[in-house]
Amino acid sequence: MLVDHHRRPLRNLRLSVTDRCNLRCRYCMPEEMYAWLPRPQLLDYEEMVELARVFVGLGVNKIRLTGGEPLLRRDLHRLVAQLRALDGLKDLALTTNAVLLQEQAPALAAAGLQRLTVSLDTLDAGRFEQLTQRDHFAAVIAGLDAADAAGFTGTKLNTVVERGRNEDEIPRLLAFARERGYQARFIEYMDVGGATGWTAQKVVSWQEILSQVRAAFGEVEEVARNDAAPADRYRLADGTVFGVIASTTRPFCATCDRSRVTADGMWFHCLYAQNGTDLRTPLRQEGSEAMRALVEQGWAARQDQGAVERAALDERGPLQAPGRDPGDNPHLEMRTRGG
Ligand code: SAM
Ligand code: SF4
Repeated sequence: MLVDHHRRPLRNLRLSVTDRCNLRCRYCMPEEMYAWLPRPQLLDYEEMVELARVFVGLGVNKIRLTGGEPLLRRDLHRLVAQLRALDGLKDLALTTNAVLLQEQAPALAAAGLQRLTVSLDTLDAGRFEQLTQRDHFAAVIAGLDAADAAGFTGTKLNTVVERGRNEDEIPRLLAFARERGYQARFIEYMDVGGATGWTAQKVVSWQEILSQVRAAFGEVEEVARNDAAPADRYRLADGTVFGVIASTTRPFCATCDRSRVTADGMWFHCLYAQNGTDLRTPLRQEGSEAMRALVEQGWAARQDQGAVERAALDERGPLQAPGRDPGDNPHLEMRTRGG
């Protein structure tokens, strides 16, 4: 088994298929225009599958498709079907804002997509427009309906909690998830590229999230962990399970088995890493063996504990260094690395 410097295995790959998006969430892509990744540099589906094959051969058994908004990439179901055919891949999931899910859910299900995570920060259409700078709330709900109808189960609902914007909606979102059979997951606001409005005061900590849940639903018990997943899970008295991702105040780097590949084939060992490895050039010029050697060496040398290092700083971290133009380097952005 391939392990890194801290003996963490290579298990989990987040594959970003585009850096573009049809929303402009204020904590991720607050501006209208960005320096986009040049189109000729984007990996095509055949290249993504080849890359995924190499990672799976080295131990990855879970892949999550992400972005930007992955459903903007044409015929994503074709990529899903090809990835599902990879021997050794146990779990294929998608993170989406669901704006385009209504039309795509049946094809994604038919192609073998196993799990969905939908990002939704509010149940109020007006607030949705304030938070995302787009009027697409009804499309998201239609997307969730279509996903249910297409047979997806165990859907997760991701909510980034930001003080002053949506922290008052925690009980309502949890009730909505419970009613619809989804698992709500509340995420602490992270100081990552794109989060240009981030301040420590806007972070609603996991303790605050839990105390809101207790006030609305009564006692909660922690569910024992059995994997390296980022969410801590809790159970309400009626059995409803929900998650809290305390990535800002209680980082989980010690067990992190995730790495990320951007749509143009840059490999990052950590969400907070400032530098990545170009896998596109070796893949295009020398073939997958050359790429495989780079991945093997890169993972063996991996020391990253980005969220732990970030938590040790009082103010903004390196991805938000004062004076950095948020549009200047797409590789430093959350929208490019896939969250
Ligand atoms: N567009 C898709 C979506 O929103 O689900 C996939 C990409 S998005 C970058 C992946 C995840 O990152 C989303 O759940 C989003 O809420 C989360 N995210 C983006 N910026 C964040 C921030 N500053 N802090 C915490 N989570 C963030
Ligand atoms: Fe787009 Fe997702 Fe970022 Fe929102 S969080 S702007 S939906 S990539």
